[in-house]
Amino acid sequence: MTLTIRNIVPIIKANWIGQNDVAVIDTISIDSRSLQNSENTLFFALTGPNHDGHIYIEELIRKGVQYFVVNYIPENAAEKANFLVVENTLEALQKFAAYYRSLFEFPIIGITGSNGKTIIKEWLNFLLSPDFNIIRSPKSYNSQVGVPLSILGINEKHNLGIFEAGISMTNEMEKLQKIIRPTIGILSNIGSAHDEGFSSVGEKIKEKLKLFSSVNVLILNKNKTICAFVNPKIKTFSWCSDDKSADVYITKKNIGELTELQVTYREDTFPITIPFQDQASVENAIHCMMVMLYFGYKHEVIQTRMAQLYPVEMRLKVKNGIYNCTLIDDSYSSDFQSLKIALDFLEHQKQHKKKTLILSDIFQSGLNNEELYSQVSQLIISNKITRVIGIGETISQYKNKFINGITFKNVAEFTKAFDNLNFENETILIKGARDFHFEEIVSMLEEKTHETVLEINLNAISHNLNFFKSKLAPKTKMMVMVKAFGYGNGGFEIAKLLEHHKVNYLGVAFADEGISLKSAGITVPIMVMNPETTSFSAIIQHHLEPEIYSIKGLKAFLKIAEQKKLKHFPIHIKIDTGMHRLGFEEENLEDLIQILKGNETVQIKSILSHMATSDDVKHDAFAKSQIALYEQLSTRLMTELNIKPIRHILNTSGITNYPEAQYDMVRLGIGLYGISNDAEEQKQLENVGTLKSVISQIRTIDEGESVGYGRRFVADKTTRIATIPIGYADGIRRSWGNGVGYVVINGKQAKIVGSVCMDMLMADITDIDCKEGSNVIIFGENPTVNYMAQQLGTIPYEIMTGISQRVKRVFFRE
Ligand SMILES: *Cc1c(COP(=O)(O)O)cnc(C)c1O
Repeated sequence: MTLTIRNIVPIIKANWIGQNDVAVIDTISIDSRSLQNSENTLFFALTGPNHDGHIYIEELIRKGVQYFVVNYIPENAAEKANFLVVENTLEALQKFAAYYRSLFEFPIIGITGSNGKTIIKEWLNFLLSPDFNIIRSPKSYNSQVGVPLSILGINEKHNLGIFEAGISMTNEMEKLQKIIRPTIGILSNIGSAHDEGFSSVGEKIKEKLKLFSSVNVLILNKNKTICAFVNPKIKTFSWCSDDKSADVYITKKNIGELTELQVTYREDTFPITIPFQDQASVENAIHCMMVMLYFGYKHEVIQTRMAQLYPVEMRLKVKNGIYNCTLIDDSYSSDFQSLKIALDFLEHQKQHKKKTLILSDIFQSGLNNEELYSQVSQLIISNKITRVIGIGETISQYKNKFINGITFKNVAEFTKAFDNLNFENETILIKGARDFHFEEIVSMLEEKTHETVLEINLNAISHNLNFFKSKLAPKTKMMVMVKAFGYGNGGFEIAKLLEHHKVNYLGVAFADEGISLKSAGITVPIMVMNPETTSFSAIIQHHLEPEIYSIKGLKAFLKIAEQKKLKHFPIHIKIDTGMHRLGFEEENLEDLIQILKGNETVQIKSILSHMATSDDVKHDAFAKSQIALYEQLSTRLMTELNIKPIRHILNTSGITNYPEAQYDMVRLGIGLYGISNDAEEQKQLENVGTLKSVISQIRTIDEGESVGYGRRFVADKTTRIATIPIGYADGIRRSWGNGVGYVVINGKQAKIVGSVCMDMLMADITDIDCKEGSNVIIFGENPTVNYMAQQLGTIPYEIMTGISQRVKRVFFRE
């Protein structure tokens, strides 16, 4: 992109307040944290319920950004940069993208529907890339913000676009249509997703069809419900399996793991084999095939390419690597747009100073190689990558463009050199096109543990955080409790994400938890709830902030702090208002005030208390008495010491049930991890952790035969039994066995039979289609941790924190 500010001002109808409007813009940014922001960036300050881009403008100016599209000019930034003032920054971004789109004439495929959009897009890219220079939406960038950003990636060399559009409410699609303006439409499967934003299925279909208001052709599955809504003026190219009047008639047959389609089009009938058998994949593949037919591909070409379709992996995964490395696995795609996204993610998740990028040849950038690798090199420099390892024939030719770069012609050569590359204490982004098989590199670098993993969905954590933020008054701060290894979900990775979301404080139980976060580079202030006297020195050394809850503790801390000649060291005062666990009581306050009056060694950062019954309205009167006492005691401390600390008393259920007591900050815990004890609220949270394993062995036993220790299960008929490598040493309670609990295999419940063993359990899979190696879900969306806890007579906290550290945590982001 090379547009000047002077070009852009009228397009977005901005009021220009600045000096230099001939400057050339080469990147658009909405993320203040991206290292890719530069002097040629135009930054759109977007605003949302949990977010205001205007806040970061001053910081961005310091980092060299000079051009901003804003709703207003922040006071602290006036005259320090150039501003394009508009009424609505998101609309301005969309207008700009729509204009930019209008500069290009080539065909653009627009995909919408409830399911399958991203898979169809990725597969079309694979099927058509031998013949086109394709630009496509990176990952699943299909929203009101994602679509404009995707469109802005187009350049002069592209000759086919594939973009997906996703909506969750009425009136969104018209905006996306104006930006994408597809010439070829694909309506993928319409399911029940996002129903809540629409009054009826009809309304949802009508809204989706708006994407196709000016297409030359619409590809769809011919079906009465949908066709009733399609404008008859739009030319369609339809397929169907039970209606011969469709343009293409298709019959399907399963052959083992494959599906054979008999495709009748015009006068011909020909077979196509696809390497999937599930309904959804088959339908998505057919949509892709329709595009190939529409483009006039020969049957043989369609046959060869369709046979090579593969499972699409869209997630960026964070994994533990060998020698204390951290891996970011994006080994399924390699294009310029998704490289930019992955590098941003690397910056969010980096856990070490050293950052390594393992990169394959890049395809379909539309640029010639010289230009392309120069741009890649720029990107790598702005992201401060420590070393680049290029793998591929083409990237090898441009080795000299990378400072600290080494290259290999292929993965085999890399493997030979592996031992000399000395991977250690670094964050490694592994980004390669599918053909390069970088999964081999991931497997070499990955820490080897057994097959049971706890998968943590980082998007769900962000969602839950924003959900609780939206319940707070704008000025209320947020402390997030990451004690006990983030409630069992993972310490560092979650802390890093929270830092990225700019939470104000983290809370841990013990000093060592805080030290490990600080040592890994977390810079958010951390409060230690239960600092032992023996850890005071370490607390000071690592800039942790102790919670002080007794006169004895205070004196001990002051003694060390004075020896070290500290000034205004931050501490937190806990008062006991009824929980009777830790804290100063009313009768201690006088002593506390005497000691702290005029004291310069420490500074009271906050005053807190903790509620015993915020989750149970039955004890409403007690909860309110705690809040009242807190108000009284904290006010007394503030008045007598003449201080204005942060005050906080609410945990997760407090946020829900006692919003009037938010004070200056709240302490979010279990809610972040997707758990609420309010049924309505639970529906709005997203599941964070999924505990998974695989089937080790399957056997069939006869009536009268038993399973496991003590013969506690005896079959009353021929029964198929699966053994799964997870047991009570991993945190699965023994009482979850013997028919109480179940695991889920291929979407079906399999009862746990016999007693749970230390490292294994057995389940009845008589009615389930599965094999050795099949995936097993222990908990997640079903069964939920909440349900397990209820059945076992405990609370979700205990189940979550009880998952043993030998279970590997894998973090991913969609
Ligand atoms: C654990 C804890 C919290 C968070 O509680 P949740 O119920 O998980 O939200 C808040 N404050 C204190 C003092 C805690 O110990």
